[in-house]
Amino acid sequence: MATERTLSIIKPDAVEANNVGAILAMIEKAGLKIVAMRMLHLSRAQAEGFYAVHKERPFFGELCDFMTRSPVVVSVLEGDNAVAKYREVMGATNPAEAAEGTIRKAFAKDIGENSVHGSDSLENAGIETNYFFPGCLLL
Ligand code: ADP
Ligand code: MG
Repeated sequence: MATERTLSIIKPDAVEANNVGAILAMIEKAGLKIVAMRMLHLSRAQAEGFYAVHKERPFFGELCDFMTRSPVVVSVLEGDNAVAKYREVMGATNPAEAAEGTIRKAFAKDIGENSVHGSDSLENAGIETNYFFPGCLLL
């Protein structure tokens, strides 16, 4: 299996609810290593740039309002098949459809305020990692 790096964001709903520690514990228990991490309050421009791929979607404005509401924790996770593994640990986008034992099942409120972001492909992992941690690129 290939060692990969992926980008995680613990979103405002989860930071506000003091779930940062519990979410990081689930990430580490899954065997993913935190190799970079920082807390920041996203600007509108940072949120819009990060989610640019969704700019035509009807929920784009709502998503950027949510993501800039309060601080987030961004981190780079490393491990075997890290991209797919973290998507598995996160659970489905809509927490109503998320499997037992996943972060979104445990903590997410709804399809918008769903506690975590994880890159959806190795290519996007490289782009997203570089967005918040310039120089911390793909292995
Ligand atoms: P994922 O985060 O699982 O990769 P998407 O890339 O499809 O999901 O969507 C990005 C984010 O946009 C979601 O995590 C969620 O916060 C928000 N979102 C997605 N679909 C909706 C929706 N129907 N209504 C409101 N917000 C949504
Ligand atoms: Mg996505």
